[in-house]
Amino acid sequence: MNKAKIVIVGAGYGGMNTAVTLSKKMGHNEASITLVNKHDYHYQTTWLHEPAAGTMDPDRTRVKISDVLNTNKVNFVQDEVLEIKTEDKKVILKEGELEYDYLVVSLGATAETFGIPGVHEHAFTKWTLNGARQVKDHIDAQFANYNNTDDQHEGLLTFIVAGAGFTGIEFIGELSERIPELCKTYDVPREKVRLFVVEAAPSALPGFDPELVEYGMNLLESRGVEFKINTPIKEVTSTGVIVGEGEEIKSETIVWATGVRGNPVIEKSGFEANRGRVKVDPDLRAPGYDDVFVIGDCALIINEEINRPYPPTAQIAMQMAKTCANNIVTLNKGGSGLESFKPDIKGTVASLGGKEAIGVVGSKKIYGGTANFMKKMIDNRALFVLGGPMLALKKGKFPL
Ligand code: FAD
Repeated sequence: MNKAKIVIVGAGYGGMNTAVTLSKKMGHNEASITLVNKHDYHYQTTWLHEPAAGTMDPDRTRVKISDVLNTNKVNFVQDEVLEIKTEDKKVILKEGELEYDYLVVSLGATAETFGIPGVHEHAFTKWTLNGARQVKDHIDAQFANYNNTDDQHEGLLTFIVAGAGFTGIEFIGELSERIPELCKTYDVPREKVRLFVVEAAPSALPGFDPELVEYGMNLLESRGVEFKINTPIKEVTSTGVIVGEGEEIKSETIVWATGVRGNPVIEKSGFEANRGRVKVDPDLRAPGYDDVFVIGDCALIINEEINRPYPPTAQIAMQMAKTCANNIVTLNKGGSGLESFKPDIKGTVASLGGKEAIGVVGSKKIYGGTANFMKKMIDNRALFVLGGPMLALKKGKFPL
């Protein structure tokens, strides 16, 4: 009997955890498992605001795939996925192609620009390891330039975060913590630096508990962050952002964090999608396909209680990985009665830089040091789930 060919594309929270689970549940004779990823490392996407702001060494966020994966059971291919040809059951890579019997699409997300002109040209949009390095290097260079130019113009040390969702707030939290150190290192007077968060919605952290939002905004304001709420960005230019009736906030550093859409490979491959995300069946397969699972940020699932999509999170991606792996094992054994995916939301915690955070765990609101402790526990747990105690100890956030 031919072994089933299982191909997993993308080694983020969804893909890595699917590969690890399958490698534990399936024997050598049952299937050949292949994981494809652009790089030979997995990175903790949920940590990227830290290296981007320069408060963490980027290397700390990455884990070599071969250090975690049982490469006797999973064949790793470092390549870029260009397209999926579902009719031919093939994944087209930059350097070749792969055939599959079962495919797991877990390629993550890309920036949502809402068609606003100038975003891709003038803003930092890439929440990847290399994208984070680029933001950090640029911020340092702006500070270094200050005392080496006769033109100490307004935009030089004005930093704008577009979007006051989780990513934007976590990033400005880190950056606002680092500003005093940057000012000291580069001999820059603190009052020359301006930090803005520009948000189109009527509140920061839309949908989050108002009391926690107030705590977070007050804290960030005390560090000098200026919020422009209810202020849609109309255009991004080489000199700043245009808001409202044409007012320009001058800045040479615009960090884009207004939300995400599914990886472009989804739409390119002809899957029916909503903002690049496939509204998956309860068993996590793409509608109309019995051999293609879509998980993580590429998948859309509805929270029936409020009739709105669940926000794409690592928490959900990891849970989907488990259901997806179980369902592939069942299908491969010729079984039916696949598991339906139901997210189990344990809580949400946003870091605010330093020892500060806000969040909800269960139904309890948490602030400050308690929330910061929980955030580290959550980050360490993700490492533990992926690579056991050794990985958690090697890369985890200690002391708690
Ligand atoms: P990812 O983890 O993004 O992985 C996708 C993988 O696919 C990457 O390895 C990438 O290199 C690879 N890839 C992409 N395109 C290709 C291609 N064409 N070919 C080959 N490989 C490719 N969620 C939470 O639950 N809690 C948080 O606190 C939280 N904080 C966040 C903070 C920040 C700064 C950001 C950016 C996100 C945060 N999130 C958080 C969201 C969370 O990171 C995502 O929901 C999660 O990473 C999605 O997992 P995924 O497996 O779908 O994609």
